[in-house]
Amino acid sequence: MFQVVEELYEAGVKKPLQLNSALLNRGISGHSMKQLNNFLTRLKTKVQGPATISYLELEEWCSQHSIQPEEDDCAYVVHHDVSPTSGVHVIMSTKRLLANAAQSEVVHLDATYKLTWNGFPVIIAGVSDQARQFFPVVFGVMQAETSEEYGLLLNKMKTAVEEVSGKTFEPRIVVADCADAITTAISQVFPEAKRGHCWFHVKKAAETHLRRESKDMQAICKADIANLQLCYCQDQFDMAAQLALNKWRQLWPDSGFPAYFEDQYVARYGGWFEGFDLRAPSTNNGLESLNGSIKTNHTLRERLPVGRFVVAAQSMIRDWSRDLTGRRQFQDTPIADLAVMTKAHQYLQQEKVVVQVGEDSFFVRSGEELTLSNEQVDAYVQMVEGNPQSFDEFVDHRFSMWRVQDTGNRTEAMAMWCTCPEGLKKFVCKHSLAIGSLFGLIDFSDVARAMPVGRKRKRGRPTLARPALEHQ
Ligand SMILES: [Zn+2]
Repeated sequence: MFQVVEELYEAGVKKPLQLNSALLNRGISGHSMKQLNNFLTRLKTKVQGPATISYLELEEWCSQHSIQPEEDDCAYVVHHDVSPTSGVHVIMSTKRLLANAAQSEVVHLDATYKLTWNGFPVIIAGVSDQARQFFPVVFGVMQAETSEEYGLLLNKMKTAVEEVSGKTFEPRIVVADCADAITTAISQVFPEAKRGHCWFHVKKAAETHLRRESKDMQAICKADIANLQLCYCQDQFDMAAQLALNKWRQLWPDSGFPAYFEDQYVARYGGWFEGFDLRAPSTNNGLESLNGSIKTNHTLRERLPVGRFVVAAQSMIRDWSRDLTGRRQFQDTPIADLAVMTKAHQYLQQEKVVVQVGEDSFFVRSGEELTLSNEQVDAYVQMVEGNPQSFDEFVDHRFSMWRVQDTGNRTEAMAMWCTCPEGLKKFVCKHSLAIGSLFGLIDFSDVARAMPVGRKRKRGRPTLARPALEHQ
């Protein structure tokens, strides 16, 4: 059998399952998958050579590339410590990537989508901007995924960003998966930063745990968790989470899921709802898709010899850096693109009633309903920000109207945030733009220019319907 496996392997059949079916096709059976896997591991080592690297070789290369270059996009080694006793630590970046990071208050780091090189974890940390674009900052080949190693990476990133930009680098929030090693590292390097938990990971983990439950329960819990994720402040999340747990415990008294969810995603890892930080992405999707593309493009293959690996890494980091000179610029305010501007323009023409409460809060009905009374707004505030009796009652009210909050004293539309799902996730929506336009903060002339040709339009700027603004 082993002779046949070797032949198949050389012919390009390299995956255990493919190999197994090829063997069965040839009438060879009686082996277990475990035997096949073990043999495959030995075969790989024989074919590719042992996965060893020379510390001396790597250390020399790092030393040669440790001097900060003149050129902004030239990748260099920000920090390294390579020896048989301390292990492998190589952290690289460019001046442009580091200077870019200084503009951000949102850091992303992840341990889930693993890239490795000769068994060493490759860890990328980056930042995001107000247009929710992700920008890599440092590329690290580290010894292990421990709190010390993450701490070292974050610490060297902080020092390098500060050195290049001349400003202190104190992020407001660090978003990562739920790994405790990362939490410890963050609290040591950025003690003031909030610890955000990637919503995508929480969702996946909850779904996996729910698989043992009935289809009914799965569907209800998934929907409830998605609604919980749209809470827009901490008090609301605390209250709504307890209501959801009560609901589940009543419906399924024998299930272990409520206890699991409460322990994990309410008590320990609670930083995954939108209101945890209204101006930071709630997922690490930008970072993960970068990791994914590195993996699928085989830019950095697992067993590249050290010389080729560092050269490949260097050119990849240079490309990230050059990206910043083109269309991918750092945005410090959310971007209202033509699509959302058009929606806002159409929304205004519906002449929905806007109820103003106090100086800075504006309420509109969701859905088709145009009217809205002060009593309805009162009931909403009571329910959603006060004391609902059940989770379902909370959800019904929560999504019955949207609240636009002005945090900028009528100075800019982008300082208005809205509680609708799009507003929370994209930082800008038709409601915040429409309210902004009531105060002259939005100019719709581009929308008018982009209207389909042939539709009759008055000359000059279109006039805007002004929704009734009711003071309470
Ligand atoms: Zn909105």
